[in-house]
Amino acid sequence: MFLLCCAVISPTTSQVSGSLFAVLGPCDYPFMLRILLFDLDNTLYSDTVGMDRDIVVRMNSFVARTLDLGLSEAAEMRRERTRRYGTTLEWLMAEHGFTESESWFAAIHPEGEESAIQRDPGLRRLLESMPLPKVIFTNSPMEHADRVLDKLGVGDLFDRVYDIRFNGLKGKPHGEAIRRVLADCGVVAAESLLVDDLPKYVRGFVEEGGHGILLDEFDRYGDQPFLRIHSLAELPSIIAGIEASESQLSLF
Ligand SMILES: [Mg+2]
Repeated sequence: MFLLCCAVISPTTSQVSGSLFAVLGPCDYPFMLRILLFDLDNTLYSDTVGMDRDIVVRMNSFVARTLDLGLSEAAEMRRERTRRYGTTLEWLMAEHGFTESESWFAAIHPEGEESAIQRDPGLRRLLESMPLPKVIFTNSPMEHADRVLDKLGVGDLFDRVYDIRFNGLKGKPHGEAIRRVLADCGVVAAESLLVDDLPKYVRGFVEEGGHGILLDEFDRYGDQPFLRIHSLAELPSIIAGIEASESQLSLF
């Protein structure tokens, strides 16, 4: 296990200079990093795959049908209102009394949705190079996660998938969901690290005392206070920096 402390570490590939721990998130030091949590969509595969864009198209169409709106109006309303919620489904349930969550999942995540994803041996090697236990923490339903992980060829590398049903349809960034997942993992927040492509989810995790890394593939979020990486390929060097820190401390 790795001991994280207040020592200054500058990951060579990080976009953020200075203390790694100053940008990973607040905690009481020292602590042992015991688990890595990964978001799924646009985190384990690139945004350029386009699957997430197809999901957004289906969500906008569903919202337009459900609320009897034009497509552009539905898209704009969804974009605006979901800022206050974890997901579009959560918004529909909270503000429009929507209760047909299974219909929503079936429409948004149809069979074959994963067709654009390619098997990724490089991702597999990368994940295998990081020996810490790994889980998926996603706001999508399990059937979607299963399809994506199976297509990528990495499902067996994760000890568990925490999906939106596990969290009673109210997942990231809510503290209750984060605490539920961490309790099931058997760790405290300071012992965990989440990698996610959405700032609001990283923020929620950090506010719970966990450590967050923002996967910012296209440099969209330079104003965010989190450690940002362009690619998951940068993670091992960050972990190595943590290991080096532990090694240095053991000399004292
Ligand atoms: Mg994502």
